[in-house]
Amino acid sequence: MSDNVRNVIIIGSGCSGLTAAIYAARANLKPLVIDGHEPGGQLGITTLVENFPGFPDGIQGPELIENMRQQAARFGTEFTVGHVGSVDLSQKTPDLGKKPIEVNLGRETLLTRTLIIASGASARWLGLPSEQALIGHGVSSCATCDGFFFSGKEIAVIGGGDSAMEEALFLTRFAPKVAIIHRRGEFRASKIMLERARKHQQIEFLTDTVVEEVLDVSKKEVTGLRLRNVKTGKQWELPVSAMFLGIGHTPNADFVGDQLKRDGEGYLIPESYVCSRAPGVFISGDVADRHYRQAVTAAGTGCMAALEVEKYLEEIGK
Ligand code: NAP
Repeated sequence: MSDNVRNVIIIGSGCSGLTAAIYAARANLKPLVIDGHEPGGQLGITTLVENFPGFPDGIQGPELIENMRQQAARFGTEFTVGHVGSVDLSQKTPDLGKKPIEVNLGRETLLTRTLIIASGASARWLGLPSEQALIGHGVSSCATCDGFFFSGKEIAVIGGGDSAMEEALFLTRFAPKVAIIHRRGEFRASKIMLERARKHQQIEFLTDTVVEEVLDVSKKEVTGLRLRNVKTGKQWELPVSAMFLGIGHTPNADFVGDQLKRDGEGYLIPESYVCSRAPGVFISGDVADRHYRQAVTAAGTGCMAALEVEKYLEEIGK
């Protein structure tokens, strides 16, 4: 195979992709990491991270991810910026190692013997300019990460699915009152989760209600929400100190098409652990995890994917 075929390309520079890069680089595989539209992934937009082991006083998300990046670079990881439009994973078992995997970036096509897909899942946002301006200043998509910072304050959670119920229930540990704001009167949440939230004395429900604006961008903190009842048209302000989004995540895996197993929402489904059904293609982090979605679990599967890459390259004699 020609020299322009890499040993390993890693799609995604969140904590899963960077952990994979650290391991692959230390194994002398000279990985190439492709930074997508959210370099650093979810950690890049978080503030203080207090549950990543090894930092007794916590660490800022962007600093943690920058440290991982430098650590990966120190051992020889290369980086490139690009949007992966598609991949060709069609190498077949009898030809293992002969036909490279293709990663199409639009401007160029990269060739590799192995691929780690660590492209993550992006939290869904409402898309309001005021919401976007206050991410990290009271607007968050991760109750586990940021709930603690609003101890003693009133909080709103947006959504009507299990994520919203789970976030709201979790946030009652810190907040005296949590308002679940849902755009309809019916819920997608499972009966049990919905009942648990309904029975909780600290949780109140505002249904048929949408957020019009997050206040107050000029103060650089959340002071309240301007709400509208979609049935009556009534508008009012709800004073809260934080807004948590629980309206789902979208896995970043469309470039794979139907070449790998995916669930109904597009999350990748590994065959076992981090191994996919395509030879030489491994999956790590939130792109295959709708459940845990933690930095440490994403890092763990990134490590596993890199170890599988090493094993696979040995098997095909590279
Ligand atoms: P989901 O079930 O798709 O629910 C998303 C919710 O957000 C829906 O109520 C939806 O409203 C609302 N929503 C979506 N876009 C919105 C927008 N632009 N503005 C306002 N509201 C919006 O997502 P999820 O709750 O993240 O759950 C995803 C999957 O993970 C589910 O299968 C769930 O069971 C599972 N999960 C399980 C657990 C658990 O068992 N502990 C915890 C979390 C998630 P509409 O209903 O009007 O569409």
